Amino acid sequence: MKKIGVIVPCWNEEEALPLFYQEMTKVMDEMKDNDFEIMFINDGSKDNTLQVIKELAKKDKRVRFISFSRNFGKEAAIFAGLQNINGDYVTLMDADLQDPPAKLIEMYETLQKNNLDIVGLKTNNHKNYGFLRKFLTACYYKIIGLLSTVPMAPNERDYRLMTRQVVDAILELTEYNRYSKGLFNFVGFDTLWLTYDAPDRVAGKTTFNFRRLFAYALDGIVGFSTRPLLISSFVGILFCFIALLLVLIIIAKTLIWGDPVSGWPSLACIIIFVSGVQLFFLGVLGEYLAKIYLETKNRPIYIVKETEKDQK
Ligand code: UDP
Ligand code: MG
Repeated sequence: MKKIGVIVPCWNEEEALPLFYQEMTKVMDEMKDNDFEIMFINDGSKDNTLQVIKELAKKDKRVRFISFSRNFGKEAAIFAGLQNINGDYVTLMDADLQDPPAKLIEMYETLQKNNLDIVGLKTNNHKNYGFLRKFLTACYYKIIGLLSTVPMAPNERDYRLMTRQVVDAILELTEYNRYSKGLFNFVGFDTLWLTYDAPDRVAGKTTFNFRRLFAYALDGIVGFSTRPLLISSFVGILFCFIALLLVLIIIAKTLIWGDPVSGWPSLACIIIFVSGVQLFFLGVLGEYLAKIYLETKNRPIYIVKETEKDQK
């Protein structure tokens, strides 16, 4: 009998959790030939999420949980789940039913039939996202596609079923700045993507506002590409050439027409422009430096306050 481990990161999901569990039990009933373990990661919820999880863990032995000491973010929750989950196969699901548990049946069958290592889900559409978010997301994947050597396609959900071997490979990547979408693709393995229509959240609202998404996007670029550093060198060289060319032009002009003092407004513009470019690339450099700083501090990725083992 093969065991499937399900990791569910939860941050303020008290309303969604009972519905999630209900859906999950249906799937577990249907997949009778498999053992299950559901690992809820309570990521420092401020509502009754932990109480709801504890109730579930009490009545169902397949339910386990890890509760963080504060909110460490979804990436940390995924890592904690992967480190602690048991099972021959492991899957990740959001608690809000945007990753429908029912899909697991098809994913498992596809994985078995085609002898794959990973079966992931891609959405056709995000009808619940606004125009701006869709547009910025599309731009972001264009940019990261150009910069990163690890393939990262748009619309890939974190929802995927993987073998124990894949989980172990991901756990080898112990970096502090975790960008799961990249890490999953970095390890490789035979992967197949199924497409589906992502439904709306069942309850509550999204925790990823613009600020969080922007930080997440930056993490992705800095974490999986060093090309921005290379680009800054190229821009530097380009500017040197332009400067040289201008010097030659000015010398020629002076020799031909003499040297009337003029052109200081354009000079001011050039100085502002060039210092802007310099500051921008200093910022790029700073981003990488900041990541190194965070890595070398070697702080734990998450801190556990309690687990199901602490329950009587
Ligand atoms: N989540 C988490 N910690 C966080 C933010 C989110 O564990 O700091 C969980 C959240 O409870 C949900 C999943 O990550 O199960 C996805 O979050 P959400 O649905 O808000 O994101 P979206 O689907 O809008 O991208
Ligand atoms: Mg969601």
